[in-house]
Amino acid sequence: MITGCTATPYPLSAGYMTLRLPAGTRVRYAGDAVGIRTWAVQPCTCPKCMSAIVHGAPASHYELHPLDGDATPIIHVLHTAAIPLPRPNEIYDYRVWATPKATAAHLRHELRRAFPGVPFKVRRGRGVKRRQLTVRWRGGPDATEVGAVAAPLLADYTNPDRRLPRMITVTRGGIPHFETPTADAIHLNRR
Ligand SMILES: [Zn+2]
Repeated sequence: MITGCTATPYPLSAGYMTLRLPAGTRVRYAGDAVGIRTWAVQPCTCPKCMSAIVHGAPASHYELHPLDGDATPIIHVLHTAAIPLPRPNEIYDYRVWATPKATAAHLRHELRRAFPGVPFKVRRGRGVKRRQLTVRWRGGPDATEVGAVAAPLLADYTNPDRRLPRMITVTRGGIPHFETPTADAIHLNRR
């Protein structure tokens, strides 16, 4: 999940637009109090989103619908906050998972490369939140722009046949290893 502190999703970067999933895609979402469960995405139809679309802005939020009909839908969830579930063909793939520490280091490096001169801090959570990362920065890009860089560590949003995130290069002892990033959520906190 990625949560942003900005109320406005503009300007939308091209990278952010690629995060949109087809309606009906199964996702998990760590942002509700119920805990992590499976939802199906639909475009958001709340008054705010409908008004934005009428004024020509691209859709930027989902509604999350429960699969069993027991829970009420969650509305107005940022596209970057819903993580698509792995495809069946990916479940038994052999993968080496990067540690949350290596994943955080990779994200820090990518952000500094994308936004030179902006001081980013990437912290890991503790205990049950140890697989959650928090990005803090001041000024520079907005949460949407940072989210477009961070979200590929949660999932591959660009290929319908693949949902697990693309592998990253982790260097240990001077030797590069290709590993899958590990993150349950990436929280964005612009001060
Ligand atoms: Zn909405």
